[in-house]
Amino acid sequence: MTKQRILSGMRATSPKLHIGNYEGALRNWVNLQDDYKVYSMVADWHALTTLEGDPQDIRRNSLEVAKDFVAGGIDPAKSAVFIQSDVKEHAEMQLLFSMVVGVGKLERNPTYKDMVKGLSKSTLVSMGLLGYPVLQASDILLYKPYGVPVGKDQAPHLELSREIGRAFNSRYGEVFPDFKDMIDKDESRSKLPGLDADDEGKLRKMSKSYGNCIYLNETADETAKRIKSAFTTPSKMRLTDPGIPEGCAVCQYLKLYSPDWEKQWAEDVAGERGCSQSKKELTEAINEFLRPMRERRAELDDAAILEILARGADEAREVASATMDEVRKAMKLA
Ligand code: ATP
Ligand code: MG
Repeated sequence: MTKQRILSGMRATSPKLHIGNYEGALRNWVNLQDDYKVYSMVADWHALTTLEGDPQDIRRNSLEVAKDFVAGGIDPAKSAVFIQSDVKEHAEMQLLFSMVVGVGKLERNPTYKDMVKGLSKSTLVSMGLLGYPVLQASDILLYKPYGVPVGKDQAPHLELSREIGRAFNSRYGEVFPDFKDMIDKDESRSKLPGLDADDEGKLRKMSKSYGNCIYLNETADETAKRIKSAFTTPSKMRLTDPGIPEGCAVCQYLKLYSPDWEKQWAEDVAGERGCSQSKKELTEAINEFLRPMRERRAELDDAAILEILARGADEAREVASATMDEVRKAMKLA
């Protein structure tokens, strides 16, 4: 029996993925790949929507992100790993979907508003940024997936993708089946906090573009240095001051990576341990967790990943082009 499909992606906004990308998305892709055909996409076109400053080497970012997929446990013998721009059907679908979605709906999208707020004044607010969810709907719906495993921040986009699919169906006939959100209920995984805090002293999401990350592919020493800089309970100045683990990045990570986290949290709350001890123990736990990924990553050179990506693009194109044939027929373009 052919397997049902799963589609998900990561933007090529940086050459490095972080533990939030892993916990919120990649971990689930890896767990699903025995039972489903997983299409793991490096979204290079999406990276163009918010990049500021000098043009980046997006192709380089894409290759490195794809290596992180494989190092993180994606098995290219089971799953298709591909780069978005290698499958041109995504662009054609985006153009056609853009005819069934109202500008007002896109302008009201909360993620769009937040992104515009986050951009520096001199940065262009492009039509590409406004249309981001339309491209994302294309990425998803072309594969008619059973489900889309992503982090919590993507929930509004998935809903928009669903609405775009429905709008198309009601105009041109049933082409796109509904799909499931596959978002981990445990927010400590689906919305992993970053190493820093926002202006109000609250934790904010770990993001490639904020640079507040623990990366999957750095040395043990680099990882230790990042953890040293992590935000902890601001009112805990001395070891004996009580900590508030819910608002402390280090305690949040301990919960995921340390088997002793309950004891560590209790000591933190009771003022029986200092933040530097927690950071030291966390560093050991995370470095242990990342070790096998670092080892797999070291074996992957450009030639190996290019071969995987070429095969993955062929597999993706096969599905995407069949859907495009259906779409063109439904729209009476063919
Ligand atoms: P950028 O800042 O460029 O948007 P990002 O870190 O938000 O980068 P994306 O490429 O936008 O990463 O997202 C890739 C996947 O990782 C998505 O499924 C997203 O929901 C998930 N993800 C991103 N950040 C986190 C996080 N902090 N916790 C859990 N999941 C996350
Ligand atoms: Mg993002």
